[in-house]
Amino acid sequence: MLTDSHCHITCNELYDELDDVLIRAKENRLGQMMIMCTNREEYERALPLHQNNPDLFKVAFGYYPGDVDKITEEDLAYLEKEARAGHLDVLGEIGLDYYWQSDNKPAQKALFERQIELANETNLPISIHMREATKDTLDLLQAKAKTPIIFHCFSGSKESMEIALKMNSLISFAGPITYKNNKTGPECVKACPIDRMLSETDSPYLSPVPKRGKRNEPANVAYTVAKIAELKDMDQSVVEETITSNFERLFHHPSFNKA
Ligand SMILES: [Zn+2]
Repeated sequence: MLTDSHCHITCNELYDELDDVLIRAKENRLGQMMIMCTNREEYERALPLHQNNPDLFKVAFGYYPGDVDKITEEDLAYLEKEARAGHLDVLGEIGLDYYWQSDNKPAQKALFERQIELANETNLPISIHMREATKDTLDLLQAKAKTPIIFHCFSGSKESMEIALKMNSLISFAGPITYKNNKTGPECVKACPIDRMLSETDSPYLSPVPKRGKRNEPANVAYTVAKIAELKDMDQSVVEETITSNFERLFHHPSFNKA
C-alpha cells in the first residue's frame, strides 16, 4: 500500500478531473493521501472527501508563505476556527520561502509563527515548506514548535537534514529524488533512517521520472517509492509498509519520536 503524504488534489488543476485521478490512484494501490489545502475553497472541497473516506484521506490546511501578502485576518480567523473545531489532521503547509520573495521576511516569519502557535494550541502536526530559508525555518521550529513536524519535499543538504532529524519530525521525499541532476536528494534518502521517512508527490507539481514535465498526480508516488527502495537497497514492500506506519504514527502523537 502506497502513501502520498502531500498532494493538492483539490486545487483547480486536479479537482476538475478528480474521479479519474482517484481511479488511477486506486489502480496504483494508494492507501493513504493527505490533501493539502492552501485556501478556503480547496479546504471545503477536501472536507467531504475526508468525511466519506477517512481512512483514505487526511486533510491539511494552512497558509503558505508565497501567499503572505494575500492572507487577511479573516482568513486566519477561519483557519483558527476550523483547527479548534478539530476538523484538520495537520496544519500546513506553512513555512518560509525566500526563493520566490525575500523582501518580506518579517511578514513571512510572523505568519509562520502565528500558525505554529495555533498548531501548538490545537495539538496538530505541522507540514513545513522551506525553500532557500533553511536556517530561519529550522531556528523558528526549534524555538517554537511543540507538535510533530513533516518536512515536505525535503530538498536541503544532508547537514540540515541531520538538524531536522533531531526534532520530532519526519522527512518527506518527492519526485526530485528521481532527477538525474539531483545529487543531494539521493544522498539524503540514503542517510535518512527508514522509520523517519515519508513519500509524497506534491501533485500537481514535481512529477517524478519518467513523468517529469507532465502534470503530477498521486498515482505517480509509485516511482518515488521505487527510487527510495533502490537507494536504500531494500525490498519495496518493506519501504511501503514502513512509510505507511510512519504516516499513521503521526496521528498518534504525542508519543511520536519524542526523545
Ligand atoms: Zn505543497
